[in-house]
Amino acid sequence: MLSNVIGNEPLKTLMLRMLKRNRLPQSLIFEGTPGCGRRTLSRAVAAALLCSDPSNKGDACGLCPSCVQCAAGTHPDVVELPHDTERRLIKVETIREMIVEEAYRSPLLGERRVFLLPAIDRLNPQSCNVLLKILEEPPVGAWFLMSKPPGNMVLNTIISRSQVFRMQSLMQADLRQVFMRQGMDIGEAEQALQIAHGSHRGVRSGETGDAGQYPRQALHNLLENGLVLQSVNAIVEALPSKSSDEAVTDAAWQRMIARQWLDRLQSELRVELRESCQERTLRHIQHIQRLKGDITLNLPLRSVVEHIALGSQ
Ligand SMILES: [Zn+2]
Repeated sequence: MLSNVIGNEPLKTLMLRMLKRNRLPQSLIFEGTPGCGRRTLSRAVAAALLCSDPSNKGDACGLCPSCVQCAAGTHPDVVELPHDTERRLIKVETIREMIVEEAYRSPLLGERRVFLLPAIDRLNPQSCNVLLKILEEPPVGAWFLMSKPPGNMVLNTIISRSQVFRMQSLMQADLRQVFMRQGMDIGEAEQALQIAHGSHRGVRSGETGDAGQYPRQALHNLLENGLVLQSVNAIVEALPSKSSDEAVTDAAWQRMIARQWLDRLQSELRVELRESCQERTLRHIQHIQRLKGDITLNLPLRSVVEHIALGSQ
């Protein structure tokens, strides 16, 4: 239901008004950074379009058989392109078989069919052209709810056939609500918020020179892909072997640099979390926080680096 979607209040109000007046464009694009709730909003709009007993505000009732099937992801008149986290290009055959051919078929339950196309920036030019044909003259009762990140020039032809609605990334209050829905109590949610909006201390330190080159790619690679020996080596080798400060031993210097790198990694993840509000990113930040403690405990640096990979689980 749209009323349950967190954030983007003005856009939700607009959607409801259009739904109620039966004025929702058949081809629309939600534009926003990944994680701002594009998919949740698309699904809620789909449910409202298909609901057999919509509220007087235009929202889905949440109770009719159609709403129940929408919530379970089993509605036969909702076709959703697979959400591909590896961001592979959408093949032209997929568009042809899943969207174009299906769009000309009659609905199975009611009078409408809804097609959800997440991340249409993954369309290649050929897929774009095939999709464009159906958007130019959409069959009666077919809606195409697409989404894309901001600023993509490739899709101009598609954009010109659709109405684009811009989404905001989640504000702090919305973020708190998202955390609580994920099962945190108010205390935990506050803590998570602090982590999400935490300081940028140490961001600029450890950039170059004596402090070595910050191995950004290798650090993120361990977090994303698990234990990759190459990345562990790259990080360990990037640590400076000699202290630039005679009062500090080489080992203590290495620890200090490693700590600065983890600080910086956390800051980067915080930016990511604010933009995308992913629980996974939050877990990464908490994981790195624990590792910083391990550095203080004098655990071997290589083992601390290897443990970064555990955050990927
Ligand atoms: Zn309903």
